[in-house]
Amino acid sequence: MKKILVANRGEIALRVMRSCREMGIQTVAIYSEADRFSPHVKFADEAVCVGPSPSNQSYLKGDRIIEICKELGVDGIHPGYGFLSENADFARAVARAGIIFIGPSPEAMEIMGDKLSSKAAVKKYKIPLVPGSEGAIDNVPQALKVGKEIGFPIIIKASAGGGGKGMRIVEKADEFEENLKRAVSEAESAFGDGSVFLEKYLRISKHIEIQVLCDTHGNYLYLFERECSIQRRHQKVIEEAPSSVLTPELRKKMGEHAANVARSCNYTGAGTVEFIYADGEYYFLEMNTRLQVEHPVTEMVTGVDLVKEQIKIARGEAISFQQEGLAINGHAIEVRVYAEDPANNFLPDIGTLQVYKKPTGPGVRVDDGFEEGMSIPIYYDPMIAKLVVHGQNRADAIAKMKKAIDEYRIIGVETTLDFCQFVLAHEEFTSGRFNTGFVKDHFKPEYLTAPVSKEFEEIAAIIAAVALQQKENELINAAAADKKFSPWKSRLIE
Ligand code: ADP
Repeated sequence: MKKILVANRGEIALRVMRSCREMGIQTVAIYSEADRFSPHVKFADEAVCVGPSPSNQSYLKGDRIIEICKELGVDGIHPGYGFLSENADFARAVARAGIIFIGPSPEAMEIMGDKLSSKAAVKKYKIPLVPGSEGAIDNVPQALKVGKEIGFPIIIKASAGGGGKGMRIVEKADEFEENLKRAVSEAESAFGDGSVFLEKYLRISKHIEIQVLCDTHGNYLYLFERECSIQRRHQKVIEEAPSSVLTPELRKKMGEHAANVARSCNYTGAGTVEFIYADGEYYFLEMNTRLQVEHPVTEMVTGVDLVKEQIKIARGEAISFQQEGLAINGHAIEVRVYAEDPANNFLPDIGTLQVYKKPTGPGVRVDDGFEEGMSIPIYYDPMIAKLVVHGQNRADAIAKMKKAIDEYRIIGVETTLDFCQFVLAHEEFTSGRFNTGFVKDHFKPEYLTAPVSKEFEEIAAIIAAVALQQKENELINAAAADKKFSPWKSRLIE
């Protein structure tokens, strides 16, 4: 592979391109009109506008992206996460065009893309499953029967679900009627597939997932776990590796089970097998057939560059190390810096990064896709950055993260930084006991201390606003001078 197009934006596009560059591979960025001045566009060797800002007119335009690859002589597509990364039809179309899709086969994506078919696929490997319905449930008597068998509370989940959407918790039998109806219609409108199923709702549980790496030579390796129990709306905000609750024996057992989940669909590339953990037992939830947002914590503790491994596997190479050669070194934590207001139910808080200063130092990694002066577009996920630290042990990593958050300066939008600082200082978190109910059980918006100096922030914002205008002009001038934005090139490929 000599030239890779990254079919994504922001931090993940940049992160993938960095590994490509280290491997001597040329990079092509795609961008929507909203992302014209984004760092990933500037970083790439070539950049092409794929369309207007809404993702269904740009980053999801698979046919257009394949055309661009043909025009520019691209031989591999890295899809990042989100957008087209788990779209089997896109992966098929890419292969038909003679281009390498850096990811698993479309068949593996299809099996694991549906929670019910993934559970069916792993059966032969005796992977522990959460007690629940065998298949889809579409009427109340059926649901009541399962309810009798497994007991309440029960969670109704969409088989095609993702992103924590479309889940409903049922506490007792007479709540089924209403919730089942709603779950089916929500699943239909969100995923175009109304199949829902039931699982025992494990109220006090942890989310523990295993990173796997598999090649086309029959190697199925596990790169240990990430704990991702700090969630809001069933979606992760803080992740770490390793988890405080896994013993070496359990880690090995879970790792081997995860490798078998990958075997069940002949998986190739990097993937994540998600488990729910309660009372020393664990149960398979689903497999994500892509690079995860939180993959850096695994990279920090194992020293493996997961993107480089994905590319090598896609080139047909065997993984150059073995299971016995892998070990966990120290502890890593990631906090997701979202443009969200934790005091307002974590709703997105879109605006301009009037001040944006990142922390630095040994063991501190910031994966971001913005610069000071840029606006967070309303069209996409409001994540600004991932702040990742590596320490000798968990206490060291927590201390490092606290200092890094202190150093991070963002003015212009509300962020999850103060919330993450609150979590890191909480005894429930430092003890390692926390579960996925942490936010509901321990967080109240008023716990967030008011900004250290509101006046300072206001004055800083005024100064920043003046500087901003200048910055915007600079960005526009720089873009105009950059050959990537030449009108000739635009005419050629837009
Ligand atoms: P999605 O694909 O939408 O992300 P998952 O099945 O991966 O859905 O679950 C997301 C989160 O929802 C989990 O990390 C966990 O917090 C919660 N969850 C899912 N299933 C259960 C369950 N059976 N019991 C308790 N919590 C659950």
